[in-house]
Amino acid sequence: MKVLVVGGAGYIGSHCVRRLLEMGDEPMVMDNLSNGHRGALNPAVPFFEGDLGDQPWVREIFATHRPDVVMHFAAFAYVGESVERPMKYYRNNVVNTLLLLEEMLRAGIHRFVFSSTCATFGVPESLPISEDLPQRPINPYGQTKLDIENALRALARSTPLGFASLRYFNASGADPRGDLGEDHAPETHLIPLVIEAALGRREGLTIFGTDYPTPDGTAIRDYIHVNDLADAHLLAMRQLTPGAGLFYNLGTESGHSVRAVIESVERISGRKVPYTEGPRRAGDPPKLYADSSRIREELGWVPRYRSLDEIVETAWRWHEGHPHGYGD
Ligand code: UDP
Repeated sequence: MKVLVVGGAGYIGSHCVRRLLEMGDEPMVMDNLSNGHRGALNPAVPFFEGDLGDQPWVREIFATHRPDVVMHFAAFAYVGESVERPMKYYRNNVVNTLLLLEEMLRAGIHRFVFSSTCATFGVPESLPISEDLPQRPINPYGQTKLDIENALRALARSTPLGFASLRYFNASGADPRGDLGEDHAPETHLIPLVIEAALGRREGLTIFGTDYPTPDGTAIRDYIHVNDLADAHLLAMRQLTPGAGLFYNLGTESGHSVRAVIESVERISGRKVPYTEGPRRAGDPPKLYADSSRIREELGWVPRYRSLDEIVETAWRWHEGHPHGYGD
């Protein structure tokens, strides 16, 4: 299929583009390079540089290139920043996504795969987190993603739109070939920070909270490999039918504490990770891990990276070989 990957120069989008190519699909990338990287682009893949807010430009691309499917990765995703700068998040994650959907529908393109998040669930009332738990986000980032899920529900009732909303848990790791990976500025995610500390590229890290109600007192998350996320996108894309709305939670279904991540990096790298213990970070739920049985049963999705060490190993390879990320 012809797939327009919006945000295809970013972390998860670039891995998905590679997977589409491997499966014989025809990806095209749209990105404003605000957080994406030219170095993450495959020169063989058509690239349109510009901003989703530029509606005439988006219209022109749809009219000229006529994708069968749109995958939408282009969003801001820092929880803390979303609390401080909500307008930035509503403008890009909500307004620009609605403009994109409006142009898709105008052009008669009716298949949409949306990057959503476990942050739409807020502090879950039970674990693991299945699709039918109530969604009560506790920060603007999660709220903007839920707003689009709700818009998609309404659009699928009134138009031929068929969509899949994929709620990622903690996207992590890198392509095992070591040439695509995570490069955020600033970096706020745990695994890259622990690896950079092990490599001596930063002095150390702070564990945000050691008094959580968990076995070792640190917060628990479900780390899911970026290539497993990419596989889920391809499976979901092939299921889309007019008016259908698919919702899937994507995780390995096992939780790992912050201390467990540090220990894993120490095992993989053979180095000590310097860290200090600090207070909790505002807005962090104590424990999040997925129930992904719906996508396993309905689409046959099987995450290939089952253990934290396997995921960390791929991330280590990328960071070790790319001291300055993509270098842009
Ligand atoms: N974390 C931490 N120190 C850091 C960065 C993150 O202790 O410097 C913790 C954070 O509080 C959370 C977990 O690591 O419990 C994963 O955080 P990350 O920002 O990677 O993802 P999130 O779960 O917030 O989306």
